[in-house]
Amino acid sequence: MRLYNSLTRQVEEVQPVDGRTVKMYSCGPTVYRYAHLGNMRTFMLGDLIKRVLQFEGQPVYWVMNITDVGHMVDEASPDAVDKMQLAVEDEGLSPAEIARKYEQAFHEDRRALGILDADVYPRATEHIPEMLELIRRLIDRGHAYVHDGTVYFDVRSFPDYGKLSGNTLDKLVPGHRDLEIAPGKRHHADFSLWKKAGPGRLMKWDSPWGEGFPGWHIECSAMSMKYLGERFDVHTGGNDLKFPHHEDEIAQSEGATGHRVVSIWVHGGFLQMGGRKMAKSAQNIQRVTDLSAQGIDPLAFRLLCFGTRYRSEMDFSWDALVGANERLSRLRKRVADWAAEPAPDALSEDARALDKRFRDAVGDDLDLPEALKVLEEAVSSSTLPGGEKHRLLTSWDAVLGLDLERAAREAWKPTPEVEELVRRRDEARRARDFARADDIRNRLIDMGLEVMDTAEGTRVRPRRA
Ligand code: AMP
Ligand code: ZN
Repeated sequence: MRLYNSLTRQVEEVQPVDGRTVKMYSCGPTVYRYAHLGNMRTFMLGDLIKRVLQFEGQPVYWVMNITDVGHMVDEASPDAVDKMQLAVEDEGLSPAEIARKYEQAFHEDRRALGILDADVYPRATEHIPEMLELIRRLIDRGHAYVHDGTVYFDVRSFPDYGKLSGNTLDKLVPGHRDLEIAPGKRHHADFSLWKKAGPGRLMKWDSPWGEGFPGWHIECSAMSMKYLGERFDVHTGGNDLKFPHHEDEIAQSEGATGHRVVSIWVHGGFLQMGGRKMAKSAQNIQRVTDLSAQGIDPLAFRLLCFGTRYRSEMDFSWDALVGANERLSRLRKRVADWAAEPAPDALSEDARALDKRFRDAVGDDLDLPEALKVLEEAVSSSTLPGGEKHRLLTSWDAVLGLDLERAAREAWKPTPEVEELVRRRDEARRARDFARADDIRNRLIDMGLEVMDTAEGTRVRPRRA
């Protein structure tokens, strides 16, 4: 698979540095409020990269962090308040309760959108020692200094500063309040790694420099290197994270290790609504649960996103979403019809050609719009038999994640043979002949079924791909 690397500004082949597993880190949700559809579009970027690599037979190890401390309202403001602290005041819950509440909501939302599980979801608050250790390393290597309980990264000690975003030091002009706010800073672009805790601060930890809390960027350096090693393959996030978040992450990670850490940086375009970035502050956010409340399958949003290349901004509209919802249910009905047709022993040349085009499209920097075109050609082909269409679409669904077999599953009825096996299994269980019951269970599983034990006895249904 090839991806556009924001750092080198070229499309590059993803090749695991360890020769085996692609290691990917995605900046995850901040959990003091609900994630909106814009956030979810960006999280889907990591999901799609994982799906395509796995589709190509490439093992992937995926880490997504949970930011439960550290995001400020405005880094440069003297009265910056931690957003978590604001949520605590609003909701009357403790920081930990707020974080768990929104973390759980995030998982529900992402599952509804078919976003696969990451291998680990490390929480920032559970990695303070790793952050302190990294800060100590940066001080030892001359990249950081302490001023009155706060530790700053010294941007002038890192000549590559600005290489990702283009915001090199000669271009960064000081804000009018920059030096007034932080009199200990040696350069206006120096950013904090650790901050001294002010009065009344709830979330704070002991450190060699006194009580404080981590700066915004250090968690991603510390946790990505802890879980993926000091050289890994892919790092994702939304476009707004290029600067300062990822620029500062590069300075921290490369400053501490002395070498390149991330091979490919991938950034997704914004989801917009009414021409403006979807954001809580713009009061134009929509949540995954808003979709279900309107009778829209959340996976229709997934399909809608596939119409726009991930790096482009995308406009959200309810009309387009309703269209995608209808298109999705039509597709599922077609798949259910084809499921009844005989399955091919092998794919015809036409089907193989379509399959190759689909694979090429998704492997080419996630060209989902092209992949959808190939899918439409397969669907409307007058020469491909239904059995082949079924085979193609259900295999492509490993990337699309649209649950294309849903209607087929719902329409499914057991054959007389299956009904007979179920009856005999229940009989064996009543007679406490568990060896025989297990034997029948295995036969049902071999037939592609999922077998469940319920109070009413054995239930079967087709296993999901
Ligand atoms: P946050 O929880 O604010 O840290 O955001 C989580 C992710 O969502 C980050 O990668 C952001 O870049 C991304 N993001 C925020 N707003 C949008 C948007 N309107 N469209 C797409 N991605 C967004
Ligand atoms: Zn991050």
